[in-house]
Amino acid sequence: MIELPESHTLAAQISQHLSGKTVISTTAAHSPHKFAWYHGDPADYPAKLNGACVNSARGLGMFVEISLSNCTLLFNDGVNLRLHPAAGPIPAKHQLLLDFEDGSSLSASVAMYGGVVCWAKDELYENIYYATAQAKPSPLTDAFDETYFRALLAPEAVRKLPLKAALATEQRIPGLGNGCLQDILWEARLYPRRKLNTLAEEDLTALYRSVKTIMTEMTKAGGRSTEKDLFGQPGGYRVRLCAETNGKPCPRCGAPILKEAYLGGSIYTCPTCQKV
Ligand SMILES: [Zn+2]
Repeated sequence: MIELPESHTLAAQISQHLSGKTVISTTAAHSPHKFAWYHGDPADYPAKLNGACVNSARGLGMFVEISLSNCTLLFNDGVNLRLHPAAGPIPAKHQLLLDFEDGSSLSASVAMYGGVVCWAKDELYENIYYATAQAKPSPLTDAFDETYFRALLAPEAVRKLPLKAALATEQRIPGLGNGCLQDILWEARLYPRRKLNTLAEEDLTALYRSVKTIMTEMTKAGGRSTEKDLFGQPGGYRVRLCAETNGKPCPRCGAPILKEAYLGGSIYTCPTCQKV
């Protein structure tokens, strides 16, 4: 799933490889998918996209946004984006395929669920998650400082939550999901089930620093090793706590990493470093 490190990586690659290129052909909703969401009728996508030139792309929380000359494309966290060179194979199933004048193609494939959204310059696209991702400061920016972080977690309703729910749900921190969360909490030596209101002052500071440093490290390295980039390559940040390291020694203390099901997803922890 795309989280902030991957949205930034994909957007940088799209900007580098597709800026200035013009769409010559568009195929939308080629493979039926119950949980692929479009904006309006996908049959109208060729009219919006054909002849459009890619201006730039940016990562916004869990979204990848591509700005074209006469429309905007937006993909959310459940979409796999791949760039295919001229004459290269394209996936058999896809929910959007853009062919460019130089023979290259961009495919968007929805795994379990995902948004493949396109709107013309004269249309309005309203989505609460997209609006939130635009409005809130990213952990990669100076605006996301410790004062902001503490204010974000200060409401009583938030303080009652376990750390996993406080940090990685409701897009409280856009682009920080359950994937990035595991290494963030391990770095801060905090257990995901721990209630936010049990944290000492120094725990909150450690948590803030961990959010900043781990999200920045993951982004600078081109995303997490558990996710693929625009060319299908894994990201350069080696995730310490994930499905692949389950049962392996904690890089800090050597205790076996533990997997548990919690709040609709798996959590990975070190039972020694991250005390309940
Ligand atoms: Zn450990």
